[in-house]
Amino acid sequence: MRSIYFDHSGTTPVHPEVAEEMYRYLTGDNFGNPSSVHHYGLQIRKVVTEAREKAAQAIGAGAGEVVFTSGGTESDNMAIHGAAYTNRKRGNHIITSAVEHHAVLNTVKALGKEGFDITVLPVDQYGMVSVDDVAAAITDKTILITIMHANNEVGTIMPVAEIGKLARERNIIFHVDAVQSFGKIPVNVDDLGVNLLSLSGHKIYGPKGTGLLYIRKRTNWRQTLFHGGAQERLRRAGTENIPGIMGLAKAIELAMENRETESARLRVLRDKLIRGLTGIEDVRLTGHPDKRLPNHASFLFKYIEGESMLLSLDMKGIAASTGSACTSGSLEPSHVLLAMGVPHEEAHGSLRITLGKDNTEEDVDYFLQVMKPIVEKLRDMSPLKD
Ligand SMILES: *Cc1c(COP(=O)(O)O)cnc(C)c1O
Repeated sequence: MRSIYFDHSGTTPVHPEVAEEMYRYLTGDNFGNPSSVHHYGLQIRKVVTEAREKAAQAIGAGAGEVVFTSGGTESDNMAIHGAAYTNRKRGNHIITSAVEHHAVLNTVKALGKEGFDITVLPVDQYGMVSVDDVAAAITDKTILITIMHANNEVGTIMPVAEIGKLARERNIIFHVDAVQSFGKIPVNVDDLGVNLLSLSGHKIYGPKGTGLLYIRKRTNWRQTLFHGGAQERLRRAGTENIPGIMGLAKAIELAMENRETESARLRVLRDKLIRGLTGIEDVRLTGHPDKRLPNHASFLFKYIEGESMLLSLDMKGIAASTGSACTSGSLEPSHVLLAMGVPHEEAHGSLRITLGKDNTEEDVDYFLQVMKPIVEKLRDMSPLKD
């Protein structure tokens, strides 16, 4: 049977060149601790410095502004918690949106319980935050705005550069979760006007458990979560994950090399897939029709449960997703779809197809061919359809 992976927003396979690079730093004499003064340590310190320069350059940053972390979740937590506590004397107001990843939303909510004043902005029917709403929410107590670059569930690309401009004018720290956008659309810290930016390795063909936090020079941000050694210039204590860092830097390098051609290729496949599926009755696209990630297609099917579609597709060898990986398994429908105004019962019928480097036009054709009978069968069985 064919095996087709259509869940690249959930995670991606490790690129062979990334695996090779990691293996190099798991074997032989490449095990040194970069804090050591002997040659085992110095040799590793040198390659990590080069990897950091390369990673920083990819987002238009300086090497001193990049901290390696254990992933997108840690980067988001560190960014938000650090900005909040370091600026507490100045104010206690934080602005975010209703469609953020839980790594942002739950961090901000936890701060709300600790006395911070939280504004969670609504989104429109496409999952888009309005720049005017951000402007209207700002008070003289606002210390942090955190808005994602592109949404993982519906693929919508947010107007972050305009929000960044607002934040800079008011001298408010701006954090952007760019986990989904990096490698697919341009991500440059100056163009976006960010102070803090999060990336994750495993969404860009890198290893799981690796990530990066960009911290702009002179941002009033200090580490408030990790206590320990002086690694990463006091911004992230703990002996560095050298194979992970080297793998992440390789993944970032490959993503930059391939971004434009690969995004153009996937956009064509995505559009074919969207045309095919929305041709079925009572199926509609979720997220913005054109301000969306080039590899991202997400839908709502009336009268069907997302979970049943996933199981039927999996029997045909196709791996897709419904809602987000974190919310599936629970009965709560996606907070993103609910925030977009999708009724509770309809939100259960979501399907997300996210394409990646090994997908071909034949994969899309096969998917469309098997999907039509699956929809018919599930609807015939559905108690939701009269
Ligand atoms: C996957 C994801 C994260 C979490 O990253 P991890 O490396 O899995 O911790 C954060 N934000 C967004 C938008 C994501 O898609």
